[in-house]
Amino acid sequence: MGKTVRAGIVPLFIPHMGCPHHCSFCDQRSISGQQQRVTPQTVAKELREAFSYQQPPGTEIAFFGGSFTCLPEELMCAFLEQAAPFLQNGQAAGLRCSTRPDGINLHTLALLRKYGMKTVELGAQSLDEEVLLRNQRGHTSQDVFSAVQLLRENGFRVGLQIMTGLPGDTPETLEKTVRGVLKIHPDMLRIYPTVVLRGTLLENWMRDGSFQPMGLDEAVDICSGILARMEQAGIPVIRLGLHASDTLEQEMVGGAYHPAFRELCESRLIREKVDRELGSFAAGSRILLRVSSKDVSRTVGQKRANLQHWRQMGYQVTVRAADVQPGSLLLTEDSDYGYLQRGV
Ligand code: SF4
Repeated sequence: MGKTVRAGIVPLFIPHMGCPHHCSFCDQRSISGQQQRVTPQTVAKELREAFSYQQPPGTEIAFFGGSFTCLPEELMCAFLEQAAPFLQNGQAAGLRCSTRPDGINLHTLALLRKYGMKTVELGAQSLDEEVLLRNQRGHTSQDVFSAVQLLRENGFRVGLQIMTGLPGDTPETLEKTVRGVLKIHPDMLRIYPTVVLRGTLLENWMRDGSFQPMGLDEAVDICSGILARMEQAGIPVIRLGLHASDTLEQEMVGGAYHPAFRELCESRLIREKVDRELGSFAAGSRILLRVSSKDVSRTVGQKRANLQHWRQMGYQVTVRAADVQPGSLLLTEDSDYGYLQRGV
């Protein structure tokens, strides 16, 4: 299984206080009174602290929060100014930000480039009109395609973020989103299964019964499938599932969240690969499954879930670390009468 190698990132969370939108999943309004104010001064302090430690070569400063380019221009530039000294002295290799697809225009891109921005991540969430409308995103799928084109024409690297399991999302609308992402072929992708946060529209809809969030197992099923398709297309999936944090765990009231969501997805893909191979062994066989030491825990699965799954299929599988390429699986029938071998 391909592992994404990433240079370091110094992340700065810049909330968009006073955002005029009301996306169904966003808790910006409910937290605006509680959150510590983020100012250019607090950002400067964070950066000084981060760069007082040795950062890996190629480290970028990232302005996350979702709508960076929708901030008032003066404030956006004031944040960017704080990063300038670290770019000039070579401690940071570039800047990146996340924003809304309709927050991109030529004037803003010229400003971003002036300050050394190299990568812009767009919160697309879905590429289906109905899903975008129902979740009150306030932009269209065409806005995503247009923003990507403008970014690329102006030499930016493009990241996309999508969500699965939003209200109105069906296998068909998700397929539309996945095909759209494959067509765009972003430089990187983040996939977030929907999590219901306190104080959001999603919470209201969940409580009045008009929305039922997807459970963890279904989300793993769906997201592992997307991960496999993206890896096959050479699109790096740099994030799967929300970052674990105490705040998230306190504020979450429903939906698909697990602190090791990516590992669950990778483990599911290994399970499916092994399932396909097991068909060529007689039911009841004892199987020795040799994998790279890096893949042992993913192969066994969380709480030995994969081993139990194969047992239910009628196979007693033993997983052992061996000198094989990461991502390779070597299956051997482990019997008193010799062995059969399958390499995947
Ligand atoms: S997710 Fe939507 S509501 Fe929240 S800050 Fe971004 S644009 Fe505004």
